[in-house]
Amino acid sequence: MSLESSVLTPQAQLAGLVRGAGRVVALTGAGISVPSGIPDFRTPGKGLWEKVDPTEVAHIDAFHGDTPRFWRFYRPRFAELDDKQPNAAHDALAELEAGGLLDAVITQNIDRLHAKAGSEQVIEVHGSIATSSCTACRASYPTESVGELFDQEGVATCAVCVGKVKPDVALFGELLPEAAMGEAQRLCSEADLLICVGSSLEVHPVAALPELTLAAGGRVAIITQGPTPYDDDAVVKLDGDVIDELGEVLTHL
Ligand code: ZN
Repeated sequence: MSLESSVLTPQAQLAGLVRGAGRVVALTGAGISVPSGIPDFRTPGKGLWEKVDPTEVAHIDAFHGDTPRFWRFYRPRFAELDDKQPNAAHDALAELEAGGLLDAVITQNIDRLHAKAGSEQVIEVHGSIATSSCTACRASYPTESVGELFDQEGVATCAVCVGKVKPDVALFGELLPEAAMGEAQRLCSEADLLICVGSSLEVHPVAALPELTLAAGGRVAIITQGPTPYDDDAVVKLDGDVIDELGEVLTHL
């Protein structure tokens, strides 16, 4: 090992891996949106999630069982999320893609911030707040127009068939969108380098995606505060703030 390579910082090492890899994919979770003011709901006592148990209120059974209550919770959440702006970590991934150094972003987030930052290949495996659909006839509505669909009971009702309209996000108790998950699995199996950003990699089935990369001989890098199940298998693990870490990686590219 030369003197130069022995003093490479982990950020510079990751930059070198990005440059040297043919196919690079990012996998992002709640941690990348925390600096945009969107708390990770698993951190208790924050904002909109303070007084509710999200696994109960944002559950598919809650949607069907008490639809007005579901929407009372979700309408302000939509409005709040819609106002949020991408941060420098989202920008960094968009910049990498624009520079031909990143093939796609797979995200667990429903907040649309990767698209707002300019990322073009975004796979939203938990769906997104962009649209809502009729649970009966599948008619699709842009979320900003869902406000016009509410009946007197506070249920968003399809203009075509009067079925219940549901946001196109994967609720607790629901399967993830099949097409998006299939695309994510393909990208991860083909990636030479998978960079996981702001995800504890604990929520299945997304948590199994890095395994696909490793099994196919690719490498996994992690930029996440706190432990993940893949720390021992990661070629680089960066523990700092996502904005600082990605910013530092970019200075070496
Ligand atoms: Zn309908």
